[in-house]
This record gives sequence, structure tokens and C-alpha cells, in this order.
Amino acid sequence: MQYVAPTLKVGKMKRIKIISICAILVILGGWCFTGQASAQQGRVNKAIIIDAGHGGPDLGVKVADTAYEKDLNLRIALALQKELTRAGYQQVMLTRSADKEMSLKERIQLIKNNDPLLVISIHINGGFGNKSKGYEIYFPGFGTAKEAHSETSAIIKDMTKNKHLNDSVRLAQYIQKHLDGVFSKENRGLREAPIPLMEGINVPAVVIEIGFLTNKENRKKVTDGKVQQEIAKAISRGVKESL
Ligand SMILES: [Zn+2]
Repeated sequence: MQYVAPTLKVGKMKRIKIISICAILVILGGWCFTGQASAQQGRVNKAIIIDAGHGGPDLGVKVADTAYEKDLNLRIALALQKELTRAGYQQVMLTRSADKEMSLKERIQLIKNNDPLLVISIHINGGFGNKSKGYEIYFPGFGTAKEAHSETSAIIKDMTKNKHLNDSVRLAQYIQKHLDGVFSKENRGLREAPIPLMEGINVPAVVIEIGFLTNKENRKKVTDGKVQQEIAKAISRGVKESL
């Protein structure tokens, strides 16, 4: 949002609007300043939600009845929960902690109920032939953010939404930085896309597609317990640096 300097030509109503916007910005500024000390504490206390994609009869990507995406997502999600807890985050939750079916609606409700600091959804890619490999990180699109309106409540709402979108990009960038160490030269980029899991929720979020199960090299990595730990560590470091 751009700041518009008041001029002598503006009407009374417009002046009142500008003054009230300025007042809100001053209040927000003051709140940011006084709230800094407690913000760090708030971040540690607030929940982080890890979403292990698929589960139960929904296998996700499957390769020859020996490797199912749903199982690998869960293993990486559980390892990430341990890493983040070790890093000092007090409430690290999973959308599912076992092999069970969970609908998109149930996952969305869980996120809404817990108002988390951020959400990380774990998936493993498949398809596009067996040569495709590497990881992709998705963040919610800016396309859904509305233009600033003259109404102050709408401006505040848009500011909040844009902050969450910026935080999602930041989170994606830091996770990418650390995942590069596990998947050297296999970064397929950061991608903007609508995230159904975050429908109607204004919370920073990323979806990580970690490697391709359909690629022999990647499959060897994502099914290896040691590499799963490395992936969890890399994501955890990214989370910590982004906050
Ligand atoms: Zn998936």
C-alpha cells in the first residue's frame, strides 16, 4: 500500500479517512515496537503444523507395491516434528501421526482450530517419466490477494494477507537454501500456486514435493532413513532461519 500525503484539496471525508488510516498505522507501529520482546516468546509457544500428505487408502504416489508416498511423507513428518521440538518449538503438531485416512476438510479444520504460526505440507512427487527428479516448494499465490480498498478494515485485512504471503515466500526460500544440501543441483524451483489445504486460512504455508518416487536415484534417497533425517534437519533449519 502506498502512503498518500494529504493535500489542501482533499475533501473533509477523505481527510478523515486519511487521518484514521495514519492513526491505525501509528497504533500498529507502536504495537510492533512494544510487542517485539514478547513476539519471540509467542513464536516459540505458537503451534507449527506439519501435514503428512495422503494416508490410509489414499496411497499417493506408489511404485511397484513396495514404496508408497503416504508412508514416506509420514516418516519425514515425524522426523521433522522431532527436529523442530529439539530446536525449541513447544507445540509441533501433525495432521496425522499414523497411517490413517484424513480428508482435506478435516485437515483444514485442524489448522483453523489451532491458529498455527505456520504450516508445512510434506509430499513426494511422481510421474513425468522416470527421469524427472528433484524437489519443488509451493507457496500460496499472490493472485488471490485483493487490491487495497479505501475502507480501513479492508486495508488492514489486505496488509495481514500480504504479510502472510510474504512470510510464505520467505519460508520457502530458507527451506530451499537448506534442501539444496540434500538434493544438490536438483532444485526445481519455488512455485506459486493455490494451496487447497490453506483455503480461507491466512497463515504462512508451503507445500514441499520432496524428490520423485518414480526416479530411481530419488527413490533411493527418500526411502533411506538417514536421508529422511537429513531432509527433516534441512527443513527445520529453514523454518528456524525464516522466523
Ligand atoms: Zn502427494
